[in-house]
Amino acid sequence: MPDQIAYELSTRYTPYADDAAVLDLEQIASKSINAFDRPLASLHLALDPGHVGGIWADWEWRNFRISEEDYWIREGELVLEVAQRIRTRLTNLGAEVTLLREDYQPINPMNFIDYWPLAAAEKMPPTEPSFKSQLDHALKVRNRAIRLAIVRGEIAERARLVNEVIRPDVLISLHINAAEWPDGNRDQLVDGDHAHVLIFGCLSETELASPNQQVRLLEKLSNGSGTVEAQLGAALGSALIETTGLPASDYQGRNAIRIDPEVPSLWARNLMLLRLVDCPTVLMEPYITNSHSSYARIQKALRAREYHEPLPADDILVEYADAVVTGVLRAYER
Ligand SMILES: [Zn+2]
Repeated sequence: MPDQIAYELSTRYTPYADDAAVLDLEQIASKSINAFDRPLASLHLALDPGHVGGIWADWEWRNFRISEEDYWIREGELVLEVAQRIRTRLTNLGAEVTLLREDYQPINPMNFIDYWPLAAAEKMPPTEPSFKSQLDHALKVRNRAIRLAIVRGEIAERARLVNEVIRPDVLISLHINAAEWPDGNRDQLVDGDHAHVLIFGCLSETELASPNQQVRLLEKLSNGSGTVEAQLGAALGSALIETTGLPASDYQGRNAIRIDPEVPSLWARNLMLLRLVDCPTVLMEPYITNSHSSYARIQKALRAREYHEPLPADDILVEYADAVVTGVLRAYER
């Protein structure tokens, strides 16, 4: 590879200049890919940029900034860029990559009106006949209906699309984590920053008692997705920790469990998307958006994009994409 690059530099790119004084050939070689080498040629990967972003970010409770001079942090928008970066890189390596969304719009064709009866059934009707209490009730139902459309209905539709239309080999769902606000105080950043990945598992007793959950558990147990999830999850989990330098997240309580002592960043958890998707699915949860370290890096990343500046060397979204590409290559490179 370095010989090839040296040849191209001397005959094409820098024929009349001393490239050795400026360029490190070994370093370029280590980052280059051979256009004819397509190690992922047989892989069809779907990428789910988690959430929606845009005008929906508020309804998703995925929209915050610490001060008015800062950029809004919207998970759905950040992970869409990460997904697009991953698609470019993996497509170059020969994979077929399908994104579940390309903009800040829900893919769920149903809107909140469709969820109105469901939402109304959840909210106690007003006890007083006053106009104010009727209005309060209607607003509560509307808010719940929007949440059902934009969160639960959206996840269900994404799972349906993957299972019935896209039918990829694997799905990777991209998220960025956030921590509970200290004392509910939404202008105070937290100290800890960490990363993990999730695969399906860890059903509670109540969940296991539900017939729908039983059906999904049986499907996931018998369709062979579990082994691939464990392997791809381990590859992505270790690549994530190495690339970001962050410690592995820790779950307290019984809603998640570590399944591989070698990979402390890999956890099993019964999340709706992980349960509903038939094919092997891994959900990424790097960074804590409201931590001092990641908040500053995201602000820097957004500023560079707004002013069309060169991206910072430690750009957080590029780093995220790097981690996923490394993990996928480790799991699938032949
Ligand atoms: Zn998320």
